[in-house]
Amino acid sequence: MIPVVAGLFGLVLGSFLNVLIHRVPLRQSIVWPSSRCPNCGVQIKSFDNIPMISYLVLRGKCRNCKVRISPRYPVVEVLTGLLFALAAYKFGLSLALLSALVLICALVALAGTDLEHRLLPNRIVAPAALVGFVLSMAGDPGSWWVYAVSVLGIAGGLFALALAYPGGMVNG
Ligand SMILES: [Zn+2]
Repeated sequence: MIPVVAGLFGLVLGSFLNVLIHRVPLRQSIVWPSSRCPNCGVQIKSFDNIPMISYLVLRGKCRNCKVRISPRYPVVEVLTGLLFALAAYKFGLSLALLSALVLICALVALAGTDLEHRLLPNRIVAPAALVGFVLSMAGDPGSWWVYAVSVLGIAGGLFALALAYPGGMVNG
């Protein structure tokens, strides 16, 4: 049951990470205004802002102007959800789980920002990820595979996305 709850929580948090990925490098507020279509500027209604579901329902397009929405949004949400569920499955309710979730969020945000804005060169992100990875493993050596899967999942998922949609990442 805990992994399911953690997975849903991850979906919602992934949605928030998307906001961070898009806005932090542009130095925009992360709490205001609410999400807008980057093309037509129309405010995205809360029922069109449900993690993953809305992207599927709208078939990846803005409801108003039909511009294509970056597949980064659902990918980040699903990835965060899956990794949260995995971590919860491994750690249960514990302090180790909390540190794993923080690490996952940090890595997803860094990788997504790197991809969308090309602002964080991989030579910065990769060592940061490595340090987090090593620290986490040092704290709980028996769970190395959870972190390994997380790092590979995030890196692989976003890399595949960048290959599949070379131009899609610029559409905040
Ligand atoms: Zn639009």
